[in-house]
Amino acid sequence: MRTLVWFRGKDLRISDHGPLCEAACHGEVIGLFVLDPYFFAPERARELPHRMQFLLESIAALQSNLEQLGSGLVLARGKSIEVVPRLARRWRVDKVLAQRWTEPFARKRDAIVAERLHVPFELHEGETLAVPEEVRTGEGKSYSVFTPFARAHRAVVRVGSPLRAPKTLPPLPDDIRADKATLPSLESLGIAHNPRLLAGGERAARERLRRFLASAAERYDAERDRLDLASTSRLSADLKFGTLSIRTVWTAARRALERTNPKAWRSFSNELLWREFTHAVLWNNPNLLKHPRRAEFETFPWEPNEPGWRAWCEGKTGYPIVDASARQLLGEGFVHNRARMISASFLVKDLLIDYRRGEAHYMKYLTDGDWAQNNAGWQWSAGCGFDAQPYFRVFNPIDQGRKFDPTGGYVRRWIPEIARLPDKHLHAPWEAPAAVLRAAGITLGETYPNPIVNHASARNRFLAIAQGRMSAR
Ligand code: FAD
Repeated sequence: MRTLVWFRGKDLRISDHGPLCEAACHGEVIGLFVLDPYFFAPERARELPHRMQFLLESIAALQSNLEQLGSGLVLARGKSIEVVPRLARRWRVDKVLAQRWTEPFARKRDAIVAERLHVPFELHEGETLAVPEEVRTGEGKSYSVFTPFARAHRAVVRVGSPLRAPKTLPPLPDDIRADKATLPSLESLGIAHNPRLLAGGERAARERLRRFLASAAERYDAERDRLDLASTSRLSADLKFGTLSIRTVWTAARRALERTNPKAWRSFSNELLWREFTHAVLWNNPNLLKHPRRAEFETFPWEPNEPGWRAWCEGKTGYPIVDASARQLLGEGFVHNRARMISASFLVKDLLIDYRRGEAHYMKYLTDGDWAQNNAGWQWSAGCGFDAQPYFRVFNPIDQGRKFDPTGGYVRRWIPEIARLPDKHLHAPWEAPAAVLRAAGITLGETYPNPIVNHASARNRFLAIAQGRMSAR
């Protein structure tokens, strides 16, 4: 039996990899990664610089891990819907295995590949803990609110032990080695290496998991919202690219926390269940990537507000917590969850800019940019998506800053020009007396911008428009 294991961008690992383990038990294994121009054409790759860096590092690590097992990873260029069926025929494989994806475009891709293949194409689970349709209401419907979804998920889904990586693999057949393309370098794609990004690859991912469980995990329930502390796992890119499986993270965290620190386990597992929820929601509602769930928001009178858009993207709105998150995104391809919520609320509700522009900007710069989670995060923040988040909740950037960045460590790191302000004034520099500003070396409007909108009036404006639309339904 000769099996083609088609690795895609969400399962870049050898541990707990269903297709690889199954193939390894049944004879010859050919690992394949397709460098599809959809992501790897230079003009496309430049649209996702941080993800591309992490992806290339993770593919290289997978290649080396497979080589250490005695096999290798074959790279091929071209559109996957053409390349996979062609190579499967040329290499006379008996079947093709891969991990299932949730996104509508990926489901379409897989349906085309299945139709074109001359052999069976089997999709394994692994992207989420639950299989699609597994978590349903008593009436067999999908959930639209997180809390009952999470309750049902905990009751229904049984999470087994992760699969061990194969100890060895048979060498790649000689006729196949000849097909090897090489991995493009970041430079050849026109992307500058960013040393502030997390390192890609399975080993780095395992080390991140180990470090988190040995330190911040035990305080996760109390500190996860703190922007000024290293309080969260930073595993989102690993879960997105599959350098760790969700099952590995779930079982390791459960083992480390469930008995000794049940509150921390509950809180951390809840976030993993948010991830499950976003994937379930997208699976059941594939239109979400294009349209808001609440129809009233489809024709919302969004404003182009180009100056506001530029200020938000560049971290120059004059609201330190919003600006710190924008600069963190550009600087290290990551934003803390609390800062994502504050920043998204500000774009949509204070600046009246279509949430889809913010969503696309995040997809461009987040290393963990994931279609299901990012879309759900934006629709939740805008108040137009699933879950019970009401549209009339508007985050106050000053209060949020004071509460979740109480030492100012987050703002000072990303906005050094106001770092010398005392904590009291850090989240609202325009309220500081002139003498305090002078002593901190700040001239508002020059050193750091004045606020581009007045939050209280912007909030009222948004609410008046939104309430008008809701009552007109
Ligand atoms: P931890 O707090 O350590 O959580 C562990 C894991 O749980 C995360 O790695 C992530 O996989 C999952 N998780 C945590 N919070 C959420 C959540 N609210 N929704 C779904 N899953 C969650 N997450 C992404 O992975 N990719 C995205 O593109 C993305 N875009 C977002 C956009 C907006 C506007 C918002 C509000 C949230 C978004 N999130 C996204 C969710 C969340 O912000 C990140 O998962 C989290 O900040 C990652 O940091 P961490 O790994 O340290 O999280």
